[in-house]
Amino acid sequence: MIDLHTHTTFSDGSQTPTQLVEEAAAIGLTAIAVTDHDTVDGLPEALAAGERLGVEVIPGVEINLEHDRVTMDMLGYFLAGAPTEELQQELAELRVYRAERNLRMVERLAELGFPLDTADLAAAAENGAVGRPHIGEAMVRRGYVSSISEAFELYLRRGAPAWVDRRRLALGRALKLLRASGALPVLAHPGIIRTDAAGLNHIVRDAARAGLAGIECYYPLHDAETVTRCLGLAQKYALVPTGGSDSHGTVKPKARLGVGSLDQPIPDEVLADLRCVAEDRLRRLG
Ligand code: AMP
Ligand code: FE
Ligand code: ZN
Repeated sequence: MIDLHTHTTFSDGSQTPTQLVEEAAAIGLTAIAVTDHDTVDGLPEALAAGERLGVEVIPGVEINLEHDRVTMDMLGYFLAGAPTEELQQELAELRVYRAERNLRMVERLAELGFPLDTADLAAAAENGAVGRPHIGEAMVRRGYVSSISEAFELYLRRGAPAWVDRRRLALGRALKLLRASGALPVLAHPGIIRTDAAGLNHIVRDAARAGLAGIECYYPLHDAETVTRCLGLAQKYALVPTGGSDSHGTVKPKARLGVGSLDQPIPDEVLADLRCVAEDRLRRLG
């Protein structure tokens, strides 16, 4: 069993890279990809833990982007190398965009009567990419809401009173950056992209043309119909169907490590297929 989409305390997960890999080992996963938002800083710790515990750790990252005014997430897997300096610098800039946005959201919340201070987010900021789940967590600690999901529902989700948008990369730029860094780009959770079937087809077609390698078909929020639709797109555009839980630990209790769509484990062959594509691309380059 494997899992190709997980988060740690380096972004908005509740587990340190070590704790995450320990859980993976305990439930019998053979490989996990660590894919924090906008940072690769948790990877050395995850790789070391993987080595120690006999779990293969695939270094990864997840970045948010937009195409045709629709936003989506892209996973990048460094199956044949390590992230480049250029990518690291771009990720640092993306974290600055986050920090700006977070500050404005905290201002909005204060106007709404829910003051937070910098200390509330400081612990999260120590590590890496701070985001809305951390703001939600701080609101729970202050007793403003009873859960992170309530914070999202009432204040933090897109369009809610405290929500502020942030700058993000364009699809072409994100794909170019990942590929230049030796990463295999995979479209994350297509089923939750806010578009219709034609829109998704268009996105996947444009992304495939720009070097997309895979599409995350097996995902907890994908129902049977969505999985079928994603598998169809994979076939049509010659993409590897992949899968991941998007585990965030206690921050997102419904996403369970190793579990993809329909409560099923993520098939091992997904990783073997991805590796095939990575080797293929490497051969063509060299
Ligand atoms: P941000 O990166 O700050 O835009 O926040 C995105 C993060 O918030 C992702 O990890 C999402 O999984 C999480 N998220 C989005 N919507 C919700 C929600 N309704 N409840 C809990 N977490 C959410
Ligand atoms: Fe995501
Ligand atoms: Zn994710």
